[in-house]
Amino acid sequence: MTAPVIRRVRHELKRRDLTVRQTERLTPNMLRITLEGPELADFASGSFDDHLKVFIPQKEGDPQMRDYTPRRFDNDAQQLVIDFADHGEGPAASWARNAKEGDALKIGGPRGSRIIEGDIAHWVLIGDESALPAIGRKVEELPAGVTATVIAAVPSADDIQTFDTSADVSVTWVYRPFDQATDAAPFVDAIETLDLPENTFVWIATEAGVAKTLREKMLERGHPLTWLKAAGYWVSGQAESSIKDLDA
Ligand SMILES: Cc1cc2nc3c(=O)[nH]c(=O)nc-3n(C[C@H](O)[C@H](O)[C@H](O)COP(=O)(O)OP(=O)(O)OC[C@H]3O[C@@H](n4cnc5c(N)ncnc54)[C@H](O)[C@@H]3O)c2cc1C
Repeated sequence: MTAPVIRRVRHELKRRDLTVRQTERLTPNMLRITLEGPELADFASGSFDDHLKVFIPQKEGDPQMRDYTPRRFDNDAQQLVIDFADHGEGPAASWARNAKEGDALKIGGPRGSRIIEGDIAHWVLIGDESALPAIGRKVEELPAGVTATVIAAVPSADDIQTFDTSADVSVTWVYRPFDQATDAAPFVDAIETLDLPENTFVWIATEAGVAKTLREKMLERGHPLTWLKAAGYWVSGQAESSIKDLDA
């Protein structure tokens, strides 16, 4: 089996001034914000795990920057959807909780995409709330004939999301409160019985410590490193912190 390659695509780095078009509490702990603006006509995002910066205005001083996934975008309609996990206190989560139609939000990027390409027959996508937007986007982009297994952690069954897809996807939801999001155990239990057929690409994005543990567990199971990508989408106890590629 030939290992997948990660093709890097650069995008012109642009900042865009957008306006909130719609806010929706998608599930009890996930806020969906639809942004719009003519500057989205040439917005580009080539991979499900791209990220952009949101610039959260502060009462005093510079805006706070945080990383978010372009969940969905439409150049013709000039709209961009971002899903914010309502994890508690933090400038981005608090902004999303209070956002209303007409509010302004500046975004920057994505500055590039790292597109995972190859003869991938099966995807395993493992993540917490912060990764659900990327997982949802990937599942929706998968073509017919491909299979995927998702393991996603959320606080409760009320946070289950449904995804439209042509692929054959099975989803295992793992329940634990936000304050236990740094515990890898619920994921470890779920991955122990995971089927890993040939040509399976495993993608992991959770809290950084959890991601490290899960990456190790996959390697212990004999899964090749070239068929694995793991990221810490946030770091417990640290604001504005991530490890975007645990192997970089
Ligand atoms: C490539 C990439 C893509 C991402 N895409 C998304 C996305 O689409 N949607 C999304 O919701 N998040 C996403 N994240 C995660 C997001 O950037 C962080 O959760 C970010 O820290 C949130 O900012 P904040 O201002 O709300 O909290 P911060 O001020 O950064 O953090 C405040 C406190 O909250 C804790 N914390 C931060 N995030 C979480 C969390 N998810 N659960 C529990 N505790 C947390 C921190 O450890 C800290 O103690 C992504 C991260 C990366 C690296």
